[in-house]
Amino acid sequence: MSYITNEEEEQYFRELDMINKEFPNIKFSIAIPYNELNDIVSLQHTIFIINQPTCYCYKNQVKPKKQVFRITSKSPITFRIIFKQLMLQNYSLKCNHHFIEGIFPIDGHSNMFDVMLGS
Ligand SMILES: [Zn+2]
Repeated sequence: MSYITNEEEEQYFRELDMINKEFPNIKFSIAIPYNELNDIVSLQHTIFIINQPTCYCYKNQVKPKKQVFRITSKSPITFRIIFKQLMLQNYSLKCNHHFIEGIFPIDGHSNMFDVMLGS
């Protein structure tokens, strides 16, 4: 168990509160620090988030159908833009994982992205 100071704990809950206010209807949890939500994920105007769990949750089960979520923006696409649009499109994680820890391009594709999950 790692040691967390009161200050760090307060900061954590403050950020959680800001995220909850900004993304009231998300069906997943954001595990990206609040001050990194404006980080640019892609300079393209349209990207696709592929929702196809490859985690151990589906080791012994049939995987759900692949879902594709389209994200569009005139400005560079940030985490904030992605999470807002995923919220509006009812994106949800379909397994025991709850946290999105990152968003990464899928090998060989510049406009298709996968989410990195944490529990
Ligand atoms: Zn999972």
